[in-house]
Amino acid sequence: MSLYNEHMTEDATITHINLPIEFVNQLTHANDVASTLECIAFWLPEVIQADRASICLDTGDGQNLQVYALSGSEAIPLDTPVPIDGTMVGRVFSQQSVEVAHNLKNMQESDCVQLVAGGLETCMDAPLLKGQVCFGTINIARLHADSYKTNDELLLQCLANWVANHLFSNHQLSIEKRLAATDPLTGISNRRSLFHVGNSVMTQWQLNQQPFSLIVIDIDHFKMINDKHGHDAGDQVLKEVCRLISKHVRDDDEFGRLGGEEFTIILKETNKEIVQQLAHRLKQAMADAEFFYGEQALNITVSIGISRVNSDDNHFEDVLKRADKAMYQSKAQGRNRITIS
Ligand code: GH3
Ligand code: MG
Ligand code: MG
Repeated sequence: MSLYNEHMTEDATITHINLPIEFVNQLTHANDVASTLECIAFWLPEVIQADRASICLDTGDGQNLQVYALSGSEAIPLDTPVPIDGTMVGRVFSQQSVEVAHNLKNMQESDCVQLVAGGLETCMDAPLLKGQVCFGTINIARLHADSYKTNDELLLQCLANWVANHLFSNHQLSIEKRLAATDPLTGISNRRSLFHVGNSVMTQWQLNQQPFSLIVIDIDHFKMINDKHGHDAGDQVLKEVCRLISKHVRDDDEFGRLGGEEFTIILKETNKEIVQQLAHRLKQAMADAEFFYGEQALNITVSIGISRVNSDDNHFEDVLKRADKAMYQSKAQGRNRITIS
């Protein structure tokens, strides 16, 4: 940022960056962070001369960055963790300002030593900054000493800001997507997300006859917990119930909150026996679990309904309604039980 201001006041000219059209096209089509970074590392040496270009990202552990994308020399290979302490790249990340090593042989930092071992003599690192957030660094290096001038510093920092903008948008988008699909209290999928997955498994059934099953789970006499111990106790129970159920659900299955104290699991390509066994395990796990609110021990049971898609079903809701109806039968027959529709 300061470089930008200095440059503008020094000679009051505007320097242009020439970007290959193919680079911009590929970047537009990169739709995840990995391919975005790969694309940038690949094209970087075309924009600013380099024998090595890499992007290091913050791992979030407070100690390391990691090489996420690389082109050219593998002096520091892909995926290598790079400590923030004792490295030039770590200093650039922490201090959030661009730095050039004009002769790497004079540098003591461990990343510089590694670059020298790989035959490189100049390097330059710039922070990937967006507002207060630093995502990592962009790094370039050349085989010969004294390869970079002030203009190159300006250019690399501009590119770094541009890359950080991209990363920030991707990052925001994934947060927003996750929030839109998540129930804020329990952290599991929300109703909207359940219907999204439900409609997609229904399409798979209609196109390819890939069957699916549903398990609907409703907590018994949940209102009594709220009435007796307060709404906060009810909230804690909902969270704990979700945590327990999640332990039994496979990655391929979709577990979400339909609303209130009612949950659904969508099981893809599963035979009837496996679904029923899972329902029994869940019912038992709830009955066996000890829920505590402060000192208070609370007993929880659930009523369960199971349905499986069949040739009469036209919509996901048809299958859901049958599971829901079966769940209400479990209620009517005394709760803490399973009904198969
Ligand atoms: P049943 O065994 O017939 O299912 O009885 P129930 O008491 O579980 O069912 P009912 O539908 O009568 O009451 C559900 C209660 O769940 C009422 C509602 O206030 C409460 N509830 C819904 N969402 C939340 C929530 O997010 N937090 C808390 N604490 N309570 C909730
Ligand atoms: Mg209930
Ligand atoms: Mg209910």
